[in-house]
Amino acid sequence: MKIVVCVKQVPDTAAKVAVEGGKVTWGDAPLVINPWDEYAVEAALQAAEKGGGTVTAISLGAEEAKEALKHALAMGCAEAVLVNDPALAELDTQGASRVLAAAIRKVGGVDLAVFGKQAIDGDSGVTAAQTARVLGWPAATLLASLSLESGTLKGERAMEEGRQRVEAALPAVASIVKDYGEPRYPSFMGIRKAAKAEIPAWTLADLGIPTPAAAVMWKEIMNPPARQITNEMITGSSPEEIANKLADKIMEEKVL
Ligand SMILES: Cc1cc2nc3c(=O)[nH]c(=O)nc-3n(C[C@H](O)[C@H](O)[C@H](O)COP(=O)(O)OP(=O)(O)OC[C@H]3O[C@@H](n4cnc5c(N)ncnc54)[C@H](O)[C@@H]3O)c2cc1C
Repeated sequence: MKIVVCVKQVPDTAAKVAVEGGKVTWGDAPLVINPWDEYAVEAALQAAEKGGGTVTAISLGAEEAKEALKHALAMGCAEAVLVNDPALAELDTQGASRVLAAAIRKVGGVDLAVFGKQAIDGDSGVTAAQTARVLGWPAATLLASLSLESGTLKGERAMEEGRQRVEAALPAVASIVKDYGEPRYPSFMGIRKAAKAEIPAWTLADLGIPTPAAAVMWKEIMNPPARQITNEMITGSSPEEIANKLADKIMEEKVL
């Protein structure tokens, strides 16, 4: 059983993200593995442990994205590959999906490609489905459970209205949600193995594909409009009177 998991490197969740000079900045906050992808790594590892397979982690990004791959190796992935090419600076989700699909094909013989629900920076949540489309594989998204039985993926999709039991013939793409269960922490031995690991970097030439043209161009990135916050002290001769005035104000402002 050959399983691939796609992990993205993102600014830490505590980062103060802002736009300066038309570029996204996050100060000196560290770059980390996308939190949703830790659930994807966990699901991939458990599927491999049950099915007697290996997990290869793939990341598309700059050289420093190797740190996100090392986190996946420290969790237990057998191998990791970085896809890094200067031509990939301006990439949309379609382009990212074409590159990830080419990398999955280059790994070869892959039965399952696992993705996180979304990336906390781009937040589009479409890369898994788009990659499945490029590969021509079925996509089982938003899975809270996943098992592989005799060439078939079985899982439960977690949706607001309830659960949906799904099945798909392998090879397939899956995306994982938090309901799947807590990801394991990198073990001490895992961290040591990851620190020594040689992570190859593939270029577009290695993948044998041209530079994907962006269908959606980011023309301008702006900071959100500054929120106007005003304070108003509500006074009255008794707590009841203050409470009534507050309730009227809340209704007036249509907060409730
Ligand atoms: C400098 C810069 C310029 C950009 N310019 C544009 C632009 O012009 N137009 C545009 O539409 N977008 C642009 N993007 C956004 C970029 O296309 C998206 O970040 C990328 O396509 C992934 O989409 P997402 O972050 O929404 O991931 P999602 O679709 O939310 O991610 C879902 C899952 O896909 C996998 N995944 C996503 N990204 C990667 C990755 N890099 N490596 C491995 N796995 C991954 C992970 O498993 C993740 O959990 C730009 C990004 C950067 C950093």
